[in-house]
Amino acid sequence: ALYQEMTARMPRWIRINSLRATREEVFDWLTENKFHLVTERELTGVKEFAESEHVPGLLAFHPKATSLLLKSGMYRENWIVMQDLASCFPAYILDPPAATHVIDATSAPGNKTSHLSAIMFSKPNPKPTKGRIDAFERDAVRFKTLLKRLAAVGALQTKPLAGIAGGNVIAQRKDFLTTQPHDFPDVTHMLLDPSCSGSGIVNRLDFLKEDDDVENDTTDTTTTDSGESKLAHRLRQLSEFQQLMIRHAFKFPALEKVVYSTCSIHAEENEVVVMKALDSEEAREKGWTLAGRKDVIPSWKVRGDRKVCAGKEEVAESVIRCIPGGEGDGDKPNVESCNGFFVACFVRTGERGGNAA
Ligand code: SAM
Repeated sequence: ALYQEMTARMPRWIRINSLRATREEVFDWLTENKFHLVTERELTGVKEFAESEHVPGLLAFHPKATSLLLKSGMYRENWIVMQDLASCFPAYILDPPAATHVIDATSAPGNKTSHLSAIMFSKPNPKPTKGRIDAFERDAVRFKTLLKRLAAVGALQTKPLAGIAGGNVIAQRKDFLTTQPHDFPDVTHMLLDPSCSGSGIVNRLDFLKEDDDVENDTTDTTTTDSGESKLAHRLRQLSEFQQLMIRHAFKFPALEKVVYSTCSIHAEENEVVVMKALDSEEAREKGWTLAGRKDVIPSWKVRGDRKVCAGKEEVAESVIRCIPGGEGDGDKPNVESCNGFFVACFVRTGERGGNAA
């Protein structure tokens, strides 16, 4: 019942897919269908929509507009992608320039990958190359979904057909942990959105339920043989895996920026992972640190858990949290209410070179 109440307050977010349609085309469709643009704070009616104050190209609708949007030609033609506000933060924060080489280490079903691709294509490109995203996914079934989704939204690299160039994503079924950093000497940007407990998800706004990659047993409070609760045990395993992934990312020789995200509300997978990664040998050796608040959506007020980061308040300040639900006001959607989410942005300050471990 609590989740239902939260969901009712959560607006439905759609991201304009600039690989398939322009902002004008989407706005024209909305105007023709009698939708009115209002500010985020004013969003109340079923025929109103608002632009996000935090992420460009992201529109909020009343939850009751969902079926109309899903039935629209605009949705069928992939002009729009159903993607929660919080899930749009990582690619927006990573913000790779047009001609760079990027890795999305854990990609399926691919919403963040296609968002990255759209961001790169929307920028002026000083180099005669369109840049490239290597999108890795280790699971066979999820890899198939990834290919299908990337092709549908126009992000997958294909041979230019009839003068229309394909996207810039090369999807590969691969375990990120088996990649050799030296094989990627010019990768400067990386997205790391690994498997997590999914404890922040109150509503799948992207309507791809079968694509969940979450460990849903995290409410189990029974204990293991060693006396540790099953929840604590699972969180410890996830946390160790997440740290391993970040430390592997830190080894890429030319990497400048890594955005780490989860849809978990547990500090063990969030602030704790970030602090341990910053303390790792790889971080110290290569000069990895956190980007300051000014580069991590400063307008977003909910930052990291200060208690968990006691003594390292700068960590709490530079990361982002989304608290599921948020304050309610009758039937009015709350535009800051989204699925629970966490984002941290690592940047490299030291000397760069080809000496990856
Ligand atoms: N970023 C995706 C999106 O926004 O659509 C969601 C990613 S989901 C949270 C995590 C994905 O990482 C899962 O599909 C999982 O199979 C994959 N994964 C987990 N460990 C991996 C690894 N070592 N290498 C590559 N993919 C991995």
